[in-house]
Amino acid sequence: MLVSVALPVPLYQQFTYLLPNKVLSKQKVKQQISADFSLTDSTPIDFPSNAIQNLPSDELPPIGVRVRVPFGRQTLIGIVVGYQSLADTLAKGHLTLKQLKPIKQVLDDKPIIDETLLQLAKWLAHYYHYPLGEVFMVMLPSFIRQGKALDIFIRHWKVSKNSTIEQLSKSAHRQREQFALIQLNGEQGASEDVLLLEGVERHYLKKLADKGLIESFLQRQQPPKPVNLAKLPLTLNSEQQQVVDSLYQAYKNSKSKAVYQGFLLNGVTGSGKTEVYLQAMYPVLKDNKQVLILVPEIGLTPQTKARFSQRFIANILLLHSGLSDSSRMQGWEDCQQGRAQIIIGTRSALLYPFADLGLIIVDEAHGGSYKQQDSLRYHASDVALYRGFQLGIPVILGTATPTLEQLNLVQLGKLTQLNLTKRAGGAKPPVFQLINACDPDGKHTRTVHSQQTNGDWQDTGLTTEVITAMTETLEMGEQVLVFLNRRGYAPVLLCHACGWQADCPHCDAHLTVHKSNQSSMHKGRYLAHYLQCHHCGWRTQMPQHCPDCQSSNLDTLGMGTSQLTDSLHAIFANPQKSKDSYPIIQIDRDTTRNKGSWENIYRQINTGKPTILVGTQMIAKGHHFPNVTLVVMPNADLGFLSADFRSPEHTAQLIMQVAGRAGRSKKAGRVLIQTLQPQNPLLLSLVSDGYQVFASQLMKERYLMGLPPYVHACLIRCESKTLEQTHQSLEQISALFTQYNLQHDKQVAISAVIDAPMAKKNGRYHSQLLLLARQRSHLHRLLDDCWHSALQLPSVKSLRLSLDIDPTGW
Ligand SMILES: [Zn+2]
Ligand SMILES: [Zn+2]
Repeated sequence: MLVSVALPVPLYQQFTYLLPNKVLSKQKVKQQISADFSLTDSTPIDFPSNAIQNLPSDELPPIGVRVRVPFGRQTLIGIVVGYQSLADTLAKGHLTLKQLKPIKQVLDDKPIIDETLLQLAKWLAHYYHYPLGEVFMVMLPSFIRQGKALDIFIRHWKVSKNSTIEQLSKSAHRQREQFALIQLNGEQGASEDVLLLEGVERHYLKKLADKGLIESFLQRQQPPKPVNLAKLPLTLNSEQQQVVDSLYQAYKNSKSKAVYQGFLLNGVTGSGKTEVYLQAMYPVLKDNKQVLILVPEIGLTPQTKARFSQRFIANILLLHSGLSDSSRMQGWEDCQQGRAQIIIGTRSALLYPFADLGLIIVDEAHGGSYKQQDSLRYHASDVALYRGFQLGIPVILGTATPTLEQLNLVQLGKLTQLNLTKRAGGAKPPVFQLINACDPDGKHTRTVHSQQTNGDWQDTGLTTEVITAMTETLEMGEQVLVFLNRRGYAPVLLCHACGWQADCPHCDAHLTVHKSNQSSMHKGRYLAHYLQCHHCGWRTQMPQHCPDCQSSNLDTLGMGTSQLTDSLHAIFANPQKSKDSYPIIQIDRDTTRNKGSWENIYRQINTGKPTILVGTQMIAKGHHFPNVTLVVMPNADLGFLSADFRSPEHTAQLIMQVAGRAGRSKKAGRVLIQTLQPQNPLLLSLVSDGYQVFASQLMKERYLMGLPPYVHACLIRCESKTLEQTHQSLEQISALFTQYNLQHDKQVAISAVIDAPMAKKNGRYHSQLLLLARQRSHLHRLLDDCWHSALQLPSVKSLRLSLDIDPTGW
């Protein structure tokens, strides 16, 4: 027999190897020697290495184990995915006996990829037309890809024998407090992760250990105790109860008959979806099954974890891209062996192995970050449904603003829709108000100018009505959230004399002006003011003169979060001007980059004191700020004017999500949308009819225009050093597809080759080719039959091509 191995190379094939006839895994060698020499298991064997070399093997390595194999001049680690008979292979004539090489080493005794995970990998490879070996690259933690042994020992800490709190000085309050926390875990101690969760800080572990008061030891992770309630569930309203009942029924069906059911839990913002999740999870956890909860971004994972650990005494595992390699590896094992009971993660958590998964929840399921935008371009909500189907368990997609694709699945009967139309706990829905920012002449804006600390007057971008409403809210002791989806100081730097604009030398994009009070480091220099490209990260100093005409009349255009924060400081945090000074918190990628910054922001907001929050779409996602009663959106409706056909949908989702932060608790919420186009029909429909009606209107338009979700799309992107090269290659691929298409009743629409929306990015050029088909199977058949030949085209070989199934933008 021969062994088929999936290798991490960008080729659409598996590779065939002879059995490892001379090299065995250490344990098997041990077993064999023990048998040969009738030794007991416990006898330590110190065998010479050539003894291993001379042991013959006729055992097939199990499917799903890792093997080390020769590949050209390199040695690679791959996964055994099947077997072939030698006779068949030779008969087909692809390979000669001479070309076949043996596997160098089998790394595992037991499969590391179980049957379900292998099936998932194959489905991903097939659906997304991605090489199987590279699917494993995306799936597996790097330590596993590097061949490291599983079975990790975890660092634990316990109080040293005979040490007492009295050995610490009375004034060392913090150390005493930390010592007491560790002592609570008794003689068996606790793992470092658990201690950190309990409030122990890492540097105190070191401090106390240096004093000899505590000590660390390595231990295998213990199997978990059964899940218990830490706190009683909240009382549900009748709508919530109905939803929980339906979900319980679905879980019972999955348990007895392994029946999968997919749900779209469509609940307005503040409708208590999390409480529904918690109550739906409980029977599953009670049966000692695992629950997987996906959240759209890392910022939300600690918050979600806190919420769940308040309810359940359980082993909760966080999985996201910010983890260290060893934590990811440990997480993999904890999932596979069932030690993790509740798993909270970003999209890649779906690709982990699970001992006994009973329920999958995708929270904020409309989130754009669920789509992976490079390598394996999967969509987490689709993969979640596949996994549910594969395992025969319920899947819940929860959102206040479902995507049109999800609504279409409901129409097709593939998802069951459950609705939560009321806010939980008697909270009222927020009231919307449109504010016209245009002068009656329609030429000027009515926004207020304020004086900055340096004496300059500056347009705040806010109208008098908005500023008055903010003042009233703050004076009542409540919080205001201002949403502006653009970080930095301003999106454009412009020369008033000649019209020059600062552009990125590597991208088709303007440079964003950054002015920050805290100076930031760049290449060893501090730059307080700088220009940066938000697409490639390129940075430069702010010019003093226009490089074209030498004029010093340079000015910024437009407004970003840091400028808005400055303006708000001038109005609301200037002790010389107002009797009350309010804290202003800026929340965007620039201010939340550091570890722990989110937690700090959270703590500040949750004091409930009157505060202004200024943030990008980061604040739109699922956050619960009980004292925010006013939401202001200075220009959130700009997205309705974009050329991208998905923009109205995304803009509406964002507006509703941000608006949903207002009045989530006892006090009523208000939403002010300041706009330059108060008559925009899309905006009016969204505000007066709500998201549901708005979305069904968009669905009709998409149907008439033959756009997704009514057609299925594939986008082929090409990247190269020149635009001509990308065009040339895509034209050839297009010709190949067209020819095939003609022979198959033109079932697939093939677009013209066009430049990508941003043709030049990071010094490389991009163009694209779009395929659309009414039936998914037609699209896949064309790709199955033609994609390989396309990759073989001589003009394509030196370029970078990618294929994106169900792309979210083009
Ligand atoms: Zn100029
Ligand atoms: Zn750039």
